[in-house]
Amino acid sequence: MNIYDHFYAGGRFIPVAGGRRHTVVNPASETACAEVALCGQGELDTAVKSARRGFETWRRSSLDERRAALRRLKAALESRADEIAALLAIEMGCPVWLGGLMQIPMPLKGIDFAIEGLSQITWEERVGNGLVERVPSGVVAAITPWNFPVHQIAAKVAAAVAAGCSIVIKPSEVAPGAAWAFAQAVHEAGLAAGVVNLVWGDAGLGEALVTHAGVDRISFTGSTAVGQRIMASAAARLTPVTLELGGKSAAVLLEDADLAAAIPAAVRMGLANSGQACVSQSLLLVPRPLRDEAIARFQQAAAGWVPGDPLDPATRLGPVATAAQHAHVNRMIARAQEQGAVCAMGGPAGLSRGYFVAPTLFSNVSPDMEIARREVFGPVVALMTYEDEHEAADLANASGYGLSGAVWSGDPAWAVSFARRLRTGQVVINGAAQNLATPFGGWGLSGFGRENGRFGIEDMLSFRSLHGAA
Ligand code: NAP
Repeated sequence: MNIYDHFYAGGRFIPVAGGRRHTVVNPASETACAEVALCGQGELDTAVKSARRGFETWRRSSLDERRAALRRLKAALESRADEIAALLAIEMGCPVWLGGLMQIPMPLKGIDFAIEGLSQITWEERVGNGLVERVPSGVVAAITPWNFPVHQIAAKVAAAVAAGCSIVIKPSEVAPGAAWAFAQAVHEAGLAAGVVNLVWGDAGLGEALVTHAGVDRISFTGSTAVGQRIMASAAARLTPVTLELGGKSAAVLLEDADLAAAIPAAVRMGLANSGQACVSQSLLLVPRPLRDEAIARFQQAAAGWVPGDPLDPATRLGPVATAAQHAHVNRMIARAQEQGAVCAMGGPAGLSRGYFVAPTLFSNVSPDMEIARREVFGPVVALMTYEDEHEAADLANASGYGLSGAVWSGDPAWAVSFARRLRTGQVVINGAAQNLATPFGGWGLSGFGRENGRFGIEDMLSFRSLHGAA
């Protein structure tokens, strides 16, 4: 059993003094697998003070020093790839297959794009008699969830380090191993003391961090409900916030879509990580005449996603991460049935142990049903039919979220023109790879602000205008 009982501040691992502990439960076996010692106000103050000192040093660093620090961090993280994949399997049920395919490569690529971004930013420019500078905004409070824990931490840390900021991370204690390995990588990379700090805590500590007088900027990734709360708390000190929140993303098949390509991709985007991805495509919109073929192809493509041991390299679908998440997903499945949706496949996994949910597809879904509007965060896809393109766009835009989406068409120009009707931060056209150098973030209930590459760095900068500077 792993015990995470040190926090990281001032370039040192320091024992957590208080006795409050959180037990991490392996979601496949329902047995305790780790313990996290929760920090108190004193430890938080130490971490923020360390970040303030770190900022004073790091804000003066050269772009070359930042590039070199990020390269060392990437190397140290990469050397821990197998260890992290195993920890993710044990602590949050992510299959090692997906750990190797996405959970580690994404943050490594993200660090590369932050390094490239450093050369793409206009750090100063002349405007008349003014010299306009982009300056680091200070100490960043970073609060992250458990579903892609390395990527979410790395996105914020890489942007902060590149911007010349310092950062205090409060990761989710649901998957602490990834955050712990990340802190070890920071230490091994020899980043200047105080630039990156990490505290363990629950919602109360998160609240104390975002309202701390030593914090200049907040970067939050998590649920919409907590994001709303954080924004309200931040208002007291007018601390700027970036909010990367939930989603209800739709994969839209236009009439001429290639179903043989589109449906397996929709299955992957609906089921990977047990549907616990903010960009999960949990809505599938198909023209009415294609409904039966789409359902049959979905059933066929999803049949291989058999729930199983996340440590087995052959497993595609692990459990959902926690007992609470399991109860929430099962409640949403039950309510969808009560409201008249037809379960075309799946439902509760029926295993005697573990928080497993079988790949689930609902048909006969209407726009007023909960399953059509609310984020599930489980391996559950709702299929809706539409009569024409206008209705398809209305259905895709109806939830109030605006994070992501996908469109499939044999006509690339039609696909792009339809993509422009979606009120989301990103749209994947005909299964293209997600480009981590482009801005990532949402509209509406999915939040605001952007991460990745130069855009993530710019999010952590402020402007300063020097009038009359020679
Ligand atoms: P969550 O419940 O909102 O928690 C996220 C983080 O916030 C955790 O570290 C949590 O700590 C902390 N927290 C909870 N209450 C807080 C408060 N009042 N003040 C400050 N911090 C607080 O989300 P989650 O269940 O971990 O993650 C799932 C959600 O994240 C989904 O909605 C998903 O869509 C979203 N998400 C969005 C993106 C994106 O980029 N847009 C990416 C991934 C996930 P505890 O763990 O101790 O509660």
